[in-house]
Amino acid sequence: MGSCIFCKIVEKIIPSSIVYEDDLTLAFEDVNPHAPVHTIVIPKKHIPTLLDVGEEDRNLIGHMFHVAARIAREKGVAEKGFRIVNNCNHEGGQRVYHFHLHLLGGRPMRSPFG
Ligand code: 5GP
Ligand code: ZN
Repeated sequence: MGSCIFCKIVEKIIPSSIVYEDDLTLAFEDVNPHAPVHTIVIPKKHIPTLLDVGEEDRNLIGHMFHVAARIAREKGVAEKGFRIVNNCNHEGGQRVYHFHLHLLGGRPMRSPFG
């Protein structure tokens, strides 16, 4: 999609600090981290929001969670714990309209949410 920042990161038009890549997904460091570990996991396919995820994306979404867990292990936060976040639409805090997971870790996560 022409103006999508994350599509440009997939295409390497915009540089990013890539931590994992395969045919379906890309993971890179958030440019404005909110925790010692803050990695973004995206599908290479442009899907605007969670609401646009279809039945045909079932394997892709499962794979994204698997990738996030793998990165959590690699970064050493798996055992202590971490948080996976998806922000959906404006009240959900979504700023980039290319579906993504935030992997947050390396400090205690605050609860309750919001
Ligand atoms: P959202 O608010 O849409 O859930 O999260 C978007 C995230 O993408 C934000 O945490 C923001 O810091 C990150 N982000 C936005 N633009 C860029 C960029 O150009 N490069 C990287 N690495 N992260 C970005
Ligand atoms: Zn996109």
